[in-house]
Amino acid sequence: MSILDIAEPDPYLVERRHMVESQLQDRGIHDERVLEAMLRIPRHEFVSEDYKSQAYADHPTPIGESQTISQPFIVAVSLQALGLQGGESVMEVGTGSGYQTALLAMLARAVYSIERHAALTQSAAATLDRLGFNNVKLVVGDGSHGLQEFAPYDAILVSAAAPGIPRSLFDQLAEDGRMVIPVGPQHSQELQLVHKRGGQPVINVIEGCRFVPLIGAEGY
Ligand code: SAH
Repeated sequence: MSILDIAEPDPYLVERRHMVESQLQDRGIHDERVLEAMLRIPRHEFVSEDYKSQAYADHPTPIGESQTISQPFIVAVSLQALGLQGGESVMEVGTGSGYQTALLAMLARAVYSIERHAALTQSAAATLDRLGFNNVKLVVGDGSHGLQEFAPYDAILVSAAAPGIPRSLFDQLAEDGRMVIPVGPQHSQELQLVHKRGGQPVINVIEGCRFVPLIGAEGY
């Protein structure tokens, strides 16, 4: 992973370390792999010049097309709930800036990420290429149907709010796989961890949250 291994001073490292300590560790994020990945991935590379100064702030930040990069804590909570060990095949719905995609790529074996805005995919692809990721496949389309082509997935991470758990996504989850998805009305949802056991969903609520809507056939 070229750029991530270059030992040149990173002016954002202090901010990133502070983000990890005060926004994540102090609030109960304990998965070492997640903390390490969030310390290494340069979040500022995924936002435009105008927003670089806010890249490590404790809130979502605009990324264009009326979309946002999720708050660091919500990203960390979601990743921790997936419990990735390194060998998984993962699907992400809502590539957005590609920030969370990069984290998934560091934490799992292969990542398939789908986004409905082609312009966001293009810019995410450029950033991920520049950082040297080669285990990511980006697709433009309606991710509320998932991506049957590469199913089943050991883990699925949905970054946009759905009215319920889309049937196609659950079907594409491997047995014993885990999905994290915000479910609920457009202005306030709960982040659910959906575990597939014996073909049935076992649902745990992680947090209250607020995401942009999942726009599509099996979304809003
Ligand atoms: N994980 C992203 C957050 C992006 S916000 C990041 O780290 O930057 C949620 C994204 O979901 C938006 O980019 C939005 O365009 C996308 N989205 C909404 N509905 C979608 C759908 N049906 N299929 C794919 N992407 C969708």
